[in-house]
Amino acid sequence: MTERMLEVHALARHFSVRGGILPRRRPVLRAVDGVSFEVGRGQTFGLVGESGCGKSTLGRSILRLLEPTRGRVVLDGAEITGLDSAALKRQRKDMQMIFQDPFASLSPRRTVRQMLQEPLALHVPGSPARRVARVRELLDIVGLGQSALDRYPHEFSGGQRQRIGIARALAVEPKLVVADEPVSALDVSVQSQVLNLLADLQTEFGLSFVFISHDLAVVQHISHFIGVMYLGKLVETAPVDRIYAMPAHPYTRALLDAVPVAGGTRRIRRRALDGEPPSPLNPPGGCPFHTRCPEAMPICSRRVPRTIELEEHGRSHQVRCHLHDPDISQ
Ligand code: SF4
Repeated sequence: MTERMLEVHALARHFSVRGGILPRRRPVLRAVDGVSFEVGRGQTFGLVGESGCGKSTLGRSILRLLEPTRGRVVLDGAEITGLDSAALKRQRKDMQMIFQDPFASLSPRRTVRQMLQEPLALHVPGSPARRVARVRELLDIVGLGQSALDRYPHEFSGGQRQRIGIARALAVEPKLVVADEPVSALDVSVQSQVLNLLADLQTEFGLSFVFISHDLAVVQHISHFIGVMYLGKLVETAPVDRIYAMPAHPYTRALLDAVPVAGGTRRIRRRALDGEPPSPLNPPGGCPFHTRCPEAMPICSRRVPRTIELEEHGRSHQVRCHLHDPDISQ
């Protein structure tokens, strides 16, 4: 069995929404609501769901860029929830983030040399000359070359800028990288280059990734496990081959139906996924997906589905849906 690198236990991040007349009665937005999963060393957990489902908030809460409301995060055996700010600062070296928009995440007034030296100066002791040598090494690793050293972000293409973002994340040799939609702002041809780079880096350095995307096609080839998120909760988690061959949750099936297939055609939709997700400020009772589910039953609006284990050959496959609950008569 693969050694665990990341454990996320019942993690939640709630926001109190401003605007209520009585501060104590302010509505609560449950952006992330009791999420648990694990990532093995050198493996990728693909986190998918529609825009607004809470996956980016989850990624930031794992790294404590947002403080979790409750729950635990354990990285390589060390609990990082509950660390004080000094200890957290030391731990930051082990967990880095790659952002969606490389242009917005890079300072326009700093050269590549300055941007890559910054995390090294914070976390890696050594002389300035050693730091420059490390920066040069990083540029080679991400395929940018030495000519990038003293150039500014606007002088690069979108794909090259994302390579700078990747180099910056790798600078301090992290154990875990949370990549939040790292290729969604890039052209399709460039997307595959960046995905291949991330896969190569994972093999070379044994990195663990949480790879966030709204697109199941993007995460398919880089992930070992997939988690499907809806309104702040994981509704299905399974090994990547199981999710694509035997999706168990109607929401996962609907997402897969929208995945383009080779030749530019799309799968025939088994049943349409109608409408927008409900507001997380006012989620529906029972199963949160029942207002859009093509397979909803009367009980779905009344009872919250429990997590059902569909384990096969010792490989965990979990789904939250009454359709798989042997105690629910249909
Ligand atoms: Fe659909 Fe009911 Fe399953 Fe929810 S519990 S996904 S509404 S069938």
